[in-house]
Parts: sequence; C-alpha cells; structure tokens
Amino acid sequence: MLELEQVVKRYRTGSEEVRALDGISIEISPGEMLALQGPSGSGKTTLLLLAAAALRADAGSVRFNGADLASMSERQAAQYRLSEVGLISQNAHLMPHVTAVENAATKLLLGGVALTGARERAMHWLERVGVAERAQRTPEQLSGGERQRVAIARALACEPKLILADEPTANLDSQRSREIVALLAELAHERGASVLLVTHDTQAAASAERTLGLRDGRLDGQLAENRR
Ligand code: ADP
Ligand code: MG
Repeated sequence: MLELEQVVKRYRTGSEEVRALDGISIEISPGEMLALQGPSGSGKTTLLLLAAAALRADAGSVRFNGADLASMSERQAAQYRLSEVGLISQNAHLMPHVTAVENAATKLLLGGVALTGARERAMHWLERVGVAERAQRTPEQLSGGERQRVAIARALACEPKLILADEPTANLDSQRSREIVALLAELAHERGASVLLVTHDTQAAASAERTLGLRDGRLDGQLAENRR
C-alpha cells in the first residue's frame, strides 16, 4: 500500500519558495481507488510525482509496501517506476514516429519482456482502452483523446500495483471518460491495485471509495466517502 506521512515538498525558484505540499498524510490500500480534487496549483501533480519516486520529499516519508522511497537509489527508483507504478500524466508524451502499439509496449520492452510478447500485451491493453483499431498509427495520426488512451495503455500494460492518474480523462468525451474510470476501478477491485486519481470530474470521483480535497498543499478534509 501507499503511505504518505507528513510530507512536505518545496520548490525554489530564485529567491522565491513555494510550499507545494505542506504536511500531507494519506494511506491508500490495495484494492482502493482514492480520488483527489483541488484547484490548479494546489499540489496534485507534485503529490503524484512524489508517489512515483520522480521527486523527493523535503520532509516526511513516502512508503510503498513498507519501503521508504527516499532510501532508494536512482536505479531502484527507476525500477520501481518501471515495474510497480503506472503513471498517467496529463499529457500523453508518446514517442513520435513510432506506432501506437510500439508506444504502448515501451515499458514492457524496457522491463525486459521479449518483443512478440510485449506487442501482444500492448495490443490487449489498446483493446481495453478502445484504440486497438489505431494500433499501427503514429501519434500525429491520432486525435488527442486517442493519444491519451495509448498513454493509458502504456501505463497499464506492465500491470502496476500502484496507478497514479493525473486528470487522465481530461481530453476524453464523457462516454470514454466513464469507460476509463471504470477500468481503473476494476483494476483496483479485481487486481488489488491502489489507484490515486486526480480529477475535476465529480462523476469520476464518485467511482472512488474516498475523495480528498487538496488546497494550497494541505488536505481540505474528506469530501466524500462513497459506499459501494
Ligand atoms: P496542481 O497539479 O494541483 O496544479 P502542482 O503540483 O503542479 O499543482 O503545483 C503546486 C505548486 O507548486 C504550484 O504553486 C506550482 O506553481 C508549484 N510548482 C510546481 N512545479 C514546480 C516546479 N518545477 N518549480 C517551481 N514551482 C513549481
Ligand atoms: Mg497538475
């Protein structure tokens, strides 16, 4: 499970200091989807990047299955991001000039899965997010929503135990958004993944067990506990 305890993260630009996160404590269990809502600049992306070991906390601790992310070497952190974490960013960041299926297979290939198997698994996830018929297209031949779904397939293809999703449905129509959020909920409930979903979409948040609010780097109380 993911545990954040009294996490502080500051950014310094010149003489100015921003406290992006100011004493955040959160636990997410395996099988749980937690939604996080908050205005722009409230620290949502910073929180996801800390959980992905892409940033380090200035104080407090971030642990995954008991292991403190701060004590990992760069190499261990890279391995953690590759094998345990599925990070879905606000922008797809696909490799240009490379087909959708090859983009979706990237993390599997980096993780040492052989080409044929990686392509098969990537195809499976492209199907699950509804873009299999676009598998042979390059990013410039895809719509924004299709690119985002390829990025989601890439994040999920390695079957991560921790799914960190930053507004994953912002570029999608409401039908597609519902499908993606339902897929994330399914991965939590059926595979025991922990899902942290940043979303402005109240309907998407309603699929989560809990919704937390974030404001100026602090938790704004629990917005909702959704019965299922
Ligand atoms: P959100 O995702 O909720 O919009 P962020 O985590 O991106 O919030 O940002 C939180 C705060 O930290 C904001 O005030 C933002 O300007 C600042 N911030 C984020 N990233 C950086 C950075 N790389 N350098 C300096 N300040 C940053
Ligand atoms: Mg953000």
